[in-house]
Amino acid sequence: RIVLGIETSCDDTGAAVVDENGTILGEALHCQKDIHLKTGGIIPTVAQHLHRDNITKVVNKAIHASGISPYELSAIATTVKPGLGLCLGVGLSYSLDLVNKYHKPFIPIHHMEAHALTVRLLHPVEFPFLVLLISGGHCILAIVSGVSEFVMLGHSLDEAPGDTLDKVARRLSLINHPQCSGMSGGEAIEHLALHGNRKICKLKIPMSHHRDCNFSFAGLRNQVNKVIEQKEAEKGISKGQLLPCVADIAAAVQHTVALHLAQRTQRAIYYCKREGLIPTERACLVVSGGVASNRYIRKALQTVTHESDMTLLCPPPRLCTDNGVMIAWNGIEKLQSGVGVLHNADGACYESRASLGRDISELVR
Ligand code: ATP
Ligand code: FE
Repeated sequence: RIVLGIETSCDDTGAAVVDENGTILGEALHCQKDIHLKTGGIIPTVAQHLHRDNITKVVNKAIHASGISPYELSAIATTVKPGLGLCLGVGLSYSLDLVNKYHKPFIPIHHMEAHALTVRLLHPVEFPFLVLLISGGHCILAIVSGVSEFVMLGHSLDEAPGDTLDKVARRLSLINHPQCSGMSGGEAIEHLALHGNRKICKLKIPMSHHRDCNFSFAGLRNQVNKVIEQKEAEKGISKGQLLPCVADIAAAVQHTVALHLAQRTQRAIYYCKREGLIPTERACLVVSGGVASNRYIRKALQTVTHESDMTLLCPPPRLCTDNGVMIAWNGIEKLQSGVGVLHNADGACYESRASLGRDISELVR
């Protein structure tokens, strides 16, 4: 079995060809990050144009690198939700053209399911396992009991950790920092925090007294904004200029995000073990999504898993952020389990074309 995966849900145009052994036969990625950093956030119409400009090149590059002909593909898998409707529409429309041209089954993919299952391409992790998905748009704790079988334990009540880190980085004008050129907000904060003193500002860990497994980051961002305002006033620095203590603030915010994630995950582990929802021996915590690239956060989670006799597994950073490989692999998993494969996508093609950019969730079973 060989699957072509296509990802366009946000600001990365990704494609990959993966086989059932998890071998990446070919892959290509076009990141729009540099352009969106300049505009201070993603403008959906701009992202849509960039996906349109790049999708043919990216898909052809992945197929060419794989050395196989599109006729040899077993199926085409594409992210259909969640994400920016305009961007999802580009990938979906392109995929359905390929589906029709080469008469292939179509596999609609849920982007977060793909983030959660990427790890199985690299390690033989058995179901059920605990997953923490931390990215630009989500913060989810769940038990993965099978392909497409998730039991939700907790989620963010407001914004996602990647979004918080991106907004703090923007408020600190890290785009103008000589050491952070071309980095996402999260990467810039991780980089600067290496040489920062987190103790210069004390930030409260969110929700530490809540007896559930949910998350919250908006209050933390407010706290950080107040600290920044105070430091600007002290130093007579105006908004938009770099503060001399950016590294210290980066270290403090990264530390607090890490502790919040670790505390909520620890609660989930206790609960799951007590209720027998995950194995008592050799249980795994899988952490994925862009924020899982962060080494400080991984280390905090490692402390929690170590204490609970669990194994922490994170895909390498390039597979934690958005990519085509995770979509292709999710396609392989769905082909193997026989769930969610559309063998005749013709009807779906017409339906989804009519609703491109709007609700295409009817394609997902
Ligand atoms: P979602 O997966 O929720 O739809 P997304 O696809 O936009 O959102 P990802 O590509 O999975 O998100 O991750 C991007 C996010 O990861 C950004 O917010 C970015 O700042 C963050 N990120 C990337 N690298 C790091 C890092 N080293 N430390 C912390 N955050 C990081
Ligand atoms: Fe993502």
